Parts: sequence; structure tokens; C-alpha cells
Amino acid sequence: MALVNEHFLKLPNNYLFADIAKKVNAFKVSHSNADLISLGIGDVTQPLCPAVTEAMHKAVDEMADRDTFRGYGPEQGYPFLREAIVKNDFLPRGIHLDPNEIFINDGAKSDTGNIQELVRWDNSIGVTDPIYPVYIDSNVMIGRAGTVNDGKWSNVIYMPCTAENNFVPQIPDRRVDIIYLCYPNNPTGTVISKEELRKWVNYALKNDTLIFYDAAYEAYIQDPDIPHSIYEIKGARKVAIEFHSYSKTAGFTGLRCGYTVVPKDITAGTIDGRERISLHQLWYRRQCTKFNGTSYVSQRAAEATYTPEGKEQVKKTIQYYMTNARIMHETLTRYGLQVFGGENAPYLWVKTPQGESSWRFFERMLYEAHVVCTPGVGFGPSGEGYVRLTAFGLREDCEKAMERLGKWI
Ligand SMILES: *Cc1c(COP(=O)(O)O)cnc(C)c1O
Repeated sequence: MALVNEHFLKLPNNYLFADIAKKVNAFKVSHSNADLISLGIGDVTQPLCPAVTEAMHKAVDEMADRDTFRGYGPEQGYPFLREAIVKNDFLPRGIHLDPNEIFINDGAKSDTGNIQELVRWDNSIGVTDPIYPVYIDSNVMIGRAGTVNDGKWSNVIYMPCTAENNFVPQIPDRRVDIIYLCYPNNPTGTVISKEELRKWVNYALKNDTLIFYDAAYEAYIQDPDIPHSIYEIKGARKVAIEFHSYSKTAGFTGLRCGYTVVPKDITAGTIDGRERISLHQLWYRRQCTKFNGTSYVSQRAAEATYTPEGKEQVKKTIQYYMTNARIMHETLTRYGLQVFGGENAPYLWVKTPQGESSWRFFERMLYEAHVVCTPGVGFGPSGEGYVRLTAFGLREDCEKAMERLGKWI
């Protein structure tokens, strides 16, 4: 008999977005004429920009010609894309990376989930709370998270981010092996200052901690003082692995491409304490074994986001979403709600009035205003009492939803 990996059985069966879909469907059965607006979606709605689709058409034509056809590419990604990344995403910020430190992937979810394979199952992990569920669940699957009680895992250190601490997580008072950080943050839409990020890098240097830094939303940063990469902080090359994605940056959620930065300086110890092992080498070995590269067409598409036209077009779409975010932020604040995020990220984190639970507020908004949000508690215990709204919708839906919420609140 083949035995299952019992750690998978510990995962909660209720998946947040499936639960929401169930409740929305139940609503639709009894309100077949209602015109629902969703501000719950975590997916983009604007199409790929012309610079990207032109590059894709060209790449497809190359694939159709025997002389220019490409089969398997390098596991790490094509040099043309890795060089464009180094030159455009890092050099202008004073960060010097070797193109060999960039690993192209099929989106950040895979690598944020897979990266934990590089470290022993008994390392401790710390997460900000609320959090993108992938970080914890991928550790649950391998047995690193322990057992769950009251929505919290026994081997996970939770660092609450709430209105009370202005969404600045407190540095743990003991050492943790691995810390996950995500800025700009999903779900709260809040950001981290250079000064706060420096504290984390210093903590990691002092405690021999690894930081897994998810920068999937860096393109949404508007404030020039907010760091786009953890490598803007001195010493981060020794402690941090960083994840990027073209999904939210350039609408690649259905196309798939992203990248992971694994600096050559970053190491982890062996259990006997005698050796330091290069994580760059381990990750390279891991990728060569389990990954055969991102499609050539996707990589050419990603490269096109760095052309002058591509940059301009990508920026325009981001501004479209950020205008939605501004309209939502202003309107909801005017209605007297406490609203966080939405200034350097496409997410708004709204406090439920009078301490109402996330799910209760969600249901009332659904039944009374016909607007869908995402209950904050679905992202972790500290998300209770909040809901997440996204700015990824169409402008007209966004405006109509604000009007309805005004009448409702
Ligand atoms: C959307 C998102 C990603 C990107 O996922 P892809 O696999 O690249 O589409 C990564 N991290 C967070 C926090 C996200 O919200």
C-alpha cells in the first residue's frame, strides 16, 4: 500500500476563495436579478500591453520556422531576459547583481512555495500576520509547521500587523531560522520603509536568519522613499532571497513568468555546524532537476516590458489600477471607514465598523450592497475584523460599487 504524505491532511479543507464562491453562489440562487460587483478578485482585468503581444507574435513566428525554432531553453532562463532584469530592475537602484543570480520561473507562486525545500524540515519559520497563504501552506505540506490550533500553527511564529501597530511587524525577541516578508503587502496593501527593512536585514545578519522577500507588487510603489527590493539594504545579499513576478506588474497572470534572485553570497549551515553551503548552488541544482524552464514566448514577452514602449504601457495600466485605488480610498474614508493600504499597492484593507467579524461584514456587504469583498480573517488570525478590497476591477464597476457602499454604510 502506498502511504500518503500525512502532512497534506493537516491542511485546512476550506480554501478561502472556494468558501467565498460558495456564499456568492448561494446569494445568486435567491437573487437571480442582482447585479453583483466584485471587489474581491485578486486577478488583473486589463489586457496585456501591445509591446508584450507584439513580442509574443514575433516569438511565435520564430517557433514556426526551422531556422529560429527553440526547444528546451536554459533551466535558469534565457540570458536576454536575465540581463534585461539586472539592467532595468536593479542597476537603476544601485543594486549590482550577476545575471546568474536570477532564476526565471513560471510565476512567483511556484518559487515562494518551493524555496523551503532548500532548508531542513525542522527550521523555525516566522510570518507576518495576515499573510499570503502560500508561505505557510507550503511549509505545512513538508511537516515544518507543526499542528494547527485555533487557526495558528505550533511551529510558526506570527508577527501581527494591525492598525494598533500601524502594520509594522515587531521583530521577534528570539531567533527564527526563516522569515517571510511581502512588501508591498498582500493582503493589507501596506508598505515597509527603508528604515524598518534595515532592522530586518540586521536582525537576519545577527541571528543567521534567512529572509524570503516577496516583491510581487513592487511596481505599484508610488512613494519614491519606499524600497522596491530588499537588496537596497546593505548586507541583504548575505541573507535574502527575493521573488518577483510579471503577473501583477504587467498582467501576466494567465501568461506566466516571474523570477527569483538567489545571491551567490547567501549560505546556510550544515547540522554539524562545520560547513556553509551556497543556496545559489542548491537552488540551481534543484531547478535543473525539477524545472525545465519557462516558455520562450513568455520570456520574450517579459523582456518586452523593459523596452521604452513596454515600460510606458505597463506604467499606464498600473496607473489605471492605482486611480481605482485612490477613488476607493478617498470615498471609503469619506464614508467614515478606516482604510489602510491602497497608496502603494492595489489592495485596500478596511476595518469593519464596531468590531464586526470579517465574515459577518462580508455577508452584509454581499446581501445589502451587492458588493463582494474578501474577509480578512481568511489571511490569518490578525486579519479578523478587516476585509480586503482590490483595485483590479474596471473603473465603472469601481465607481458604481463606491456609490452603492455610500448608500449602504
Ligand atoms: C499574486 C501574487 C504573487 C504572484 O503569483 P504568480 O505565481 O507570479 O502569478 C506572488 N506573491 C503574492 C503575495 C501575490 O499576491
